[in-house]
Amino acid sequence: MAFSKKTVKDIDVDGKRVLVRVDFNVPLDHGNVADDTRIKAAIPTIQYLVDHGAKVILMSHLGRPKGDGPEPELSLKPAADKLRELTGLDVTFVEDTYGEKAKEAAESLKPGQVLVLENVRFDKREKKNDPEIAKKLADLGDLFVLDAFGTAHRAQGSVVGPAAYLPAVAGFLLEKEVDTLTSIFADPKRPFVAIVGGSKVSSKIGVLDHLLDSVDTLIIGGGMAYTFFLAKGYTVGTSLIEPDWVEAAKDMMKKAEKNGVNLLLPVDNVVADHFGEDATGTVVPSNEIPDDMMGMDIGPKTEKLYADAIKDAATIFWNGPMGVFEFDQFSKGTKAVAEAIAQNENCTSIIGGGDSVSAINKFGLADKMSWISTGGGASMELVEGKDLPGVEALENA
Ligand code: ADP
Ligand code: MG
Repeated sequence: MAFSKKTVKDIDVDGKRVLVRVDFNVPLDHGNVADDTRIKAAIPTIQYLVDHGAKVILMSHLGRPKGDGPEPELSLKPAADKLRELTGLDVTFVEDTYGEKAKEAAESLKPGQVLVLENVRFDKREKKNDPEIAKKLADLGDLFVLDAFGTAHRAQGSVVGPAAYLPAVAGFLLEKEVDTLTSIFADPKRPFVAIVGGSKVSSKIGVLDHLLDSVDTLIIGGGMAYTFFLAKGYTVGTSLIEPDWVEAAKDMMKKAEKNGVNLLLPVDNVVADHFGEDATGTVVPSNEIPDDMMGMDIGPKTEKLYADAIKDAATIFWNGPMGVFEFDQFSKGTKAVAEAIAQNENCTSIIGGGDSVSAINKFGLADKMSWISTGGGASMELVEGKDLPGVEALENA
């Protein structure tokens, strides 16, 4: 499925004020940008607009402000500084979003200049998708570009609002993310292997359900495996479980059988007597988890089983760590999966989700993956087969 919306390439931006919703929701450390991945990801669109004579106005949220006015520690100024440092472009920042100061700054822009507005969420009305603020934002520009993939699943003022008033198109990041995360379902090269881990079945049920319609092999790891074990009739000691989701896990196992999907569950596990950095791991088979122990990671036999399936894959989708990777002694399973993907050089590997991406970065394997999504929630919604409100609001190609 090709991307069906217009992009910046389909419109004339020369001399126009182009209002761009980016995702500059970056972690800050003492007023500095601690991880500039999201800023870097927005640069191709910004640079394209600058190169084509646009006056660029950037807006984003950062963190979770209360919405009652400015909170200096959540200002976008550090992001603006970082963008200037990374690109060498003429980037200015205005300490205003919806008011006169923002309007004046936008109106005095010259072609090739970039203006960063203050955090859109300093005003409550942003999250409520209030038409009044959408209008105020739209008044700043001639054209609207959505490139904030990370918030494209939220129908909020700056994400969908300006599209009601201005010609609205996608930026390159949004296009690439949507294209990548939907095309794997449209026509995947086979075998298509998906790996799903993380803490809970409940948060991944839509993902599992949709994957079971497409994949050849579905690999389960992480905390959610224990709810599947309950569904198989195993006892799981003090492992993380969701009793209300045992039936759903049974349904997933039935669906896998019906669709001819090879569903792989851990055959052995690293267990510990408590959850903590100082806990010691022991390996036990999946049907022999002691009553007073909890599963913290997949075991070595499972690592091998999963690596074998990954080795032959032509398409891989991965979301969710295999264990409590934040503690080194329980990060081996996640690392083994990451390494197996990295070693399969003939596959398209797509990684979605916040913690899986952190894990891959921690292991230094990011550049071995074909695509690492910049959006946690938005990527999950695409993998669930949902449409994103931000994308829906754009003009069709
Ligand atoms: P992602 O952000 O990649 O979608 P999740 O948020 O679903 O992943 O899950 C990540 C969390 O799952 C991590 O914090 C990890 O510690 C936790 N987790 C993984 N395995 C287990 C386990 N066996 N028991 C408890 N928590 C686990
Ligand atoms: Mg997470």
